[in-house]
Amino acid sequence: MRHLVIILGDQLDLKSSALDGFDPQQDRVWMTEVARESTKVWVHKARIVTFLAAMRHFAEELKKAGLPVEYRRLEDPQNQGDFIVELEAAVKRLKPKKLILVEPGEWQVREDFRQASKRLKVELDEREDRHFMATHADFEMHAKGRKGLRMEFFYREMRTRHGILMEGGKPVGGGWNFDSENRKSFAKAGPPLHAAPRQFLPDAITQDVIQTVESMFPEHPGTLGDFDWPVTAAEAQIALEDFIAHRLAEFGDYQDAMWTQEPWLFHSRLSAVMNLKLLDPRQVIAAAEKAYHTGRAPLAAVEGFIRQILGWREYVRAIYWRFMPGYGEMNELRAQQPLPKFYWTGETDMNCLRDAIGQTLRYGYAHHIQRLMVTGLFSLLLGVRPQEVHEWYLAVYVDAVEWVELPNTLGMSQHGDGGIMASKPYIASGKYIQRMSNYCAGCRYDPALSTGPKACPFTTLYWEFLLRHEPRLKMNQRMSMQVRNLARLTDAEKEAIVEQAQSIRTSLA
Ligand SMILES: Cc1cc2nc3c(=O)[nH]c(=O)nc-3n(C[C@H](O)[C@H](O)[C@H](O)COP(=O)(O)OP(=O)(O)OC[C@H]3O[C@@H](n4cnc5c(N)ncnc54)[C@H](O)[C@@H]3O)c2cc1C
Ligand code: SF4
Repeated sequence: MRHLVIILGDQLDLKSSALDGFDPQQDRVWMTEVARESTKVWVHKARIVTFLAAMRHFAEELKKAGLPVEYRRLEDPQNQGDFIVELEAAVKRLKPKKLILVEPGEWQVREDFRQASKRLKVELDEREDRHFMATHADFEMHAKGRKGLRMEFFYREMRTRHGILMEGGKPVGGGWNFDSENRKSFAKAGPPLHAAPRQFLPDAITQDVIQTVESMFPEHPGTLGDFDWPVTAAEAQIALEDFIAHRLAEFGDYQDAMWTQEPWLFHSRLSAVMNLKLLDPRQVIAAAEKAYHTGRAPLAAVEGFIRQILGWREYVRAIYWRFMPGYGEMNELRAQQPLPKFYWTGETDMNCLRDAIGQTLRYGYAHHIQRLMVTGLFSLLLGVRPQEVHEWYLAVYVDAVEWVELPNTLGMSQHGDGGIMASKPYIASGKYIQRMSNYCAGCRYDPALSTGPKACPFTTLYWEFLLRHEPRLKMNQRMSMQVRNLARLTDAEKEAIVEQAQSIRTSLA
């Protein structure tokens, strides 16, 4: 055999550089499902099904296209449960002259393959991931000579380089960013009428995977009764068209809004298929831009949506690779509290957390603000060790892959990187959640109160966070207004807040 082409579960791209120069007479694709990927963190059943169902469908497509595929299923009695052990066995058996691999989405996995190739004395041809729109070299050029690495400047560069929403060298509409128009909440009556997202009910292949997962990982978090995620490139395309036709126009206005029992609202649900590489970000961006030019969606919505993909998504990947491996260990705020057990069950009397975690366990999904300003905010204020928070986020979302999950969690949400990702910690009291949702209306707590039996734990912990980190936060200009508000509290109030925060921590330890 000439080449053994390794395709990992999040590299399901028929146009992948791994397949450049593939010769079906001499080469073979190698794909393996391994239990370790589902157990190194306690992975949600829907995430396991999404990956495995997508892999099995993709292997069928490769075979249809005439490519020989060596595929190991999870339930195969010979399966040894670990990539590298499986690879070693395959190399000994097939004796390829070269291994080909696109850069994996996890630093440790890349290391494991590099070391295995040395041990096995087979050359590893590691290829660039063309799915992304910025290369590592592009970001290094961008970062050169800069003190801070803010997403906004990188995003502007990407807009210019790729000519997206640009006119005569200037941004369409005269501004780079319409974020201030993207923060509406719903009126009392709730979200305006909107079509439910297109569902993708499990076909025979996916049903087979569901059965395997139920029998091999029965204790894992999450349920599969509502599984309807797209798992092929064709389904991903339909999901994209459905979003552009029915939800993009209002995405801008309501991207930060939350509502009980409304998991999807105006979001695209495209992160998982993009991260699996079933959907190309260029295609998503082009479809959104076309919707603007044809008058189907306003500029603020289209720019806001494109910014998430061309800006945030590319930027977090760049941050991940620039700062790994040390990034995963950072804990700038020295947070040491364990993650509350209710993150795995949703059993809490805090309405916002119950709703966000409940839908996470049901669907493997929560939108950005639920992740950042409900589950993420609570663990930040409580002072949970960022590595435990990271393991939870990596486990419970269908779109979770380390390159995107870790900077969002440890950096943006927990401020564990001390400000590489975000210039200030994203902190707020329960009043923010009250403004952006209807959660507080049905809650036993009151977001306006910081002490006493009805005090909202977010509000108590918010003030205590400011007190605890006051010396550090005072140095940060963007935090000065929030810190100044501490002066409104009397010493007795401060003492009561600290005491109540302590009792919350004790009860959740
Ligand atoms: C703590 C935390 C953890 C997160 N973990 C993940 C993760 O594991 N995987 C993941 O894909 N996203 C993650 N995100 C980003 C974001 O929450 C999800 O991409 C988004 O909720 C996915 O839903 P959607 O496809 O409906 O997105 P939409 O709201 O429709 O947004 C459109 C697309 O923009 C991209 N996007 C939006 N925000 C971000 C962001 N901050 N970083 C990278 N891409 C972004 C996604 O590809 C998304 O599909 C995380 C955010 C936070 C705060
Ligand atoms: S009152 Fe506090 S705990 Fe209850 S829903 Fe509002 S923010 Fe969440």
